[in-house]
Amino acid sequence: MQTQSEFAAALPALLYEHARFILHRLHEAGHEAYVAGGAVRDHLLGRQVHDLDIATSASPSEVKQLFRRTVAVGEHFGVMIVMIEQHTFEVATFRSDHGYTDGRRPDAVRFCSAKEDVARRDFTINGMFWDPLEDKVYDWVEGRSDLARGLIRTIGSPDARFEEDKLRMLRAIRFAAQLDFEVEENTLAACRRLAEGLCQVSMERVREEFDRLFHAQAVGRGLDLLLETGLASVLAGRFCREAGFHFPPPERPYALLEAWARKAQPEGDGFAAAPWLCLLTGMCGVSADELGPSQWRELAGLLRAMCRALRLSNDENTELEAGLRVLCELPDGPTASLAMQKRLLRDPGRELALACLSVFLPGRATFLLRWVDEFLARYAEELHAAPLMNGGDLLSMGVEHGPEVGRLLRELEDAQLEHRLHTRIEAEAMVRQYLLNQKAEGEEPCGD
Ligand code: ATP
Ligand code: MG
Repeated sequence: MQTQSEFAAALPALLYEHARFILHRLHEAGHEAYVAGGAVRDHLLGRQVHDLDIATSASPSEVKQLFRRTVAVGEHFGVMIVMIEQHTFEVATFRSDHGYTDGRRPDAVRFCSAKEDVARRDFTINGMFWDPLEDKVYDWVEGRSDLARGLIRTIGSPDARFEEDKLRMLRAIRFAAQLDFEVEENTLAACRRLAEGLCQVSMERVREEFDRLFHAQAVGRGLDLLLETGLASVLAGRFCREAGFHFPPPERPYALLEAWARKAQPEGDGFAAAPWLCLLTGMCGVSADELGPSQWRELAGLLRAMCRALRLSNDENTELEAGLRVLCELPDGPTASLAMQKRLLRDPGRELALACLSVFLPGRATFLLRWVDEFLARYAEELHAAPLMNGGDLLSMGVEHGPEVGRLLRELEDAQLEHRLHTRIEAEAMVRQYLLNQKAEGEEPCGD
């Protein structure tokens, strides 16, 4: 058995100290209390623990009385948050779930024993308790042996457990990808049988699972499992329906994402723009030979609909759109004017576009990346040069209000980016010339 000190070694010290304090106080008051679920799993594997959940026989109101700072987040489900300094801990009363008539949430919960609480959890590797004060791991579901064999297996019948909550199918595959584990045979077979049920899961939860999958060490394996079980095609159909697409779903909606996964070295957390761009544009049926400036508008519209369907935020949508815009324009980059090239390569979508280039344009990626490198080596300093004049300057020189101001500013910037203008004085001269031309045009006698 792993000892307390081994556990402690891999835990951030303060988190561990606070957890011990909570458990100690619960024990003192005569309650059972353990570290539960993911933290036990990750520690037995020697993986970094980020949050630490506690399961206890104390009721939510008893938890509330024992700690100074608590928040009732799901009192009905027996879940309290206990805050110690800057750390928050989920302290949940042992419960068994009942009902699941909607395939998403239990209709009711009943407070119960520790062992019964384990039975409601999803996978054996997530079903262990750890008591650091007694230095003991409680494992009633063979979680440790599945950890050792690298297996994701449901606690109890996989069909019954997936019928209760369809999201667990996606979780099984996500954990397999995060831990580089296999999904146990019966558990996998149940995913195949029940794949269609994924339509009942809220898009927010699906999206969260994809976020985690995209950061998983074995993301390619996760994707293979999604495809193999049929979950991928169920999801593709649903995404396209919810995006309001009237054309038939693309033939290989995951092809770009698969290509990304083959090259990816995922890490970190949060929004992973590159795989999202590959997934969503794949769903829009975009293929590499369609990329080009003239397709940009149509593609951006489709991408927006997909972002809405997958509940991505406006900021995330904007980031993806910028990446796609640069991807559409990059193939023409090397032959564009110097000003256009600079505009393209200072676009906030540049990094994302470059991260996806070899996926979207495999045949041209090497050439384009070399061009970008050489261009930046030469011009990086000039990309964000301060403009020589602004709109107010133009108006005070006599340029009329209206669209001409914008057009003229752009012309000035083009000239500056192409080294035809260097100073404010030269810029003013260009504006004066423009005003003279305007006046001359106005005075020209009208032809017939
Ligand atoms: P991570 O947070 O690293 O993704 P985790 O195992 O901590 O993994 P959480 O979603 O934080 O996962 O859930 C905590 C625990 O609650 C799980 O370990 C599992 O025991 C239980 N659990 C979570 N979601 C479900 C579910 N949909 N069905 C059954 N049990 C679940
Ligand atoms: Mg967790």
